[in-house]
Amino acid sequence: MIDCLFCRILRNEIPAKKIYEDEHTFAFEDINPQAPTHVLIIPKRHVRGLKEATPEDAELIGRCHLAAAHIARQRGIEDGYRTVLNVGPQAGQSVFHLHVHLLGGRSLHWPPG
Ligand code: AMP
Ligand code: ZN
Repeated sequence: MIDCLFCRILRNEIPAKKIYEDEHTFAFEDINPQAPTHVLIIPKRHVRGLKEATPEDAELIGRCHLAAAHIARQRGIEDGYRTVLNVGPQAGQSVFHLHVHLLGGRSLHWPPG
């Protein structure tokens, strides 16, 4: 999508610290980290969010989570990490290109705020 922030990162129009990439997904450091590890994993195809996802997006969403697990393994944070999708403005979604937050490297409280 032309003016989507994360599509622009994918097109290299905006710099990001790349962590991982494969055919379908791309991962980069969150600009405003909320934990020692805070990585965003996005599908390379623009999907607005979980709410808007269709069965066609199922594999892509799964791949984003598997990429998160791979990064967590690489970072040695498997003692405990969290994958989060903020869905809709009231949950804090501010970028409307589906993204999985990978948070870890500190103890995480439950329930989240
Ligand atoms: P959400 O609030 O769930 O939509 O998450 C959007 C995330 O994108 C936030 O955690 C932001 O800190 C992060 N973010 C916004 N702009 C950038 C950017 N240019 N590079 C990396 N992360 C960003
Ligand atoms: Zn996009």
